[in-house]
Amino acid sequence: MQTDLELLLKLQMIDYDLGELERSKEYLPDMMENLHREMQDVADRLSQVKELLTASRAKQKTLELDIKTKEASLTKYQQQMMSIKTNKEYDALVAEIDSIKASISSNETELLQTIEAISALEKDLAAYQEKDTQIRENNTRQLSILQEKIDSIGEKVAAKEAIRQQVVGTISRPTLSVYERVRRGKGGQVVVLVRKRACGSCYKALTQQRIQEIRRGDKIMTCDNCGCMLYWDNNESN
Ligand SMILES: [Zn+2]
Repeated sequence: MQTDLELLLKLQMIDYDLGELERSKEYLPDMMENLHREMQDVADRLSQVKELLTASRAKQKTLELDIKTKEASLTKYQQQMMSIKTNKEYDALVAEIDSIKASISSNETELLQTIEAISALEKDLAAYQEKDTQIRENNTRQLSILQEKIDSIGEKVAAKEAIRQQVVGTISRPTLSVYERVRRGKGGQVVVLVRKRACGSCYKALTQQRIQEIRRGDKIMTCDNCGCMLYWDNNESN
């Protein structure tokens, strides 16, 4: 029986691996999708920064041109001051000059802010370009590893199934049928270690007599509560 137990543990490990392979059919594509999304996010941010930078540089040009035009007007008005004849003309011209000076000043403030924004955006651009290159490189490498894993699932499953068949062939039929029944019923671990004098799966306490029977190992014992097959390991059970 001890041999059957060992074989069952081996079978359980194979079934766990098969289950993992099955689950990987879902989580590997999910992981790939996340890597693609991460690359896309950085690429999107990079192009946003590029767009903002282009717009800010255009704004800088427009402001510089505006200021130049207004300064030309200001020079023209200041020259007109020389040929002023009436107080009314004088007042009108002073008002005009004040207004254009205020406008130039406001443009200059905006220009300064724009230049500062451009400088910050240039730093962002460099950072995002570096991040984009890094993530693209890293994720592309990971994607090809994941793709290889996905491509080899079928092969791995077939190999595991073949080993499973071999192991199954060496386990006694009644024992195997208990294993299969419990596995179908609850999934996950079927053969569990006794831990702290309780079932290692559902933690139901075991009687002293039950523990003795399990320790003898001459019969496959199952948990009354969850149906798991129980075993004792002198190194780990207590
Ligand atoms: Zn149990």
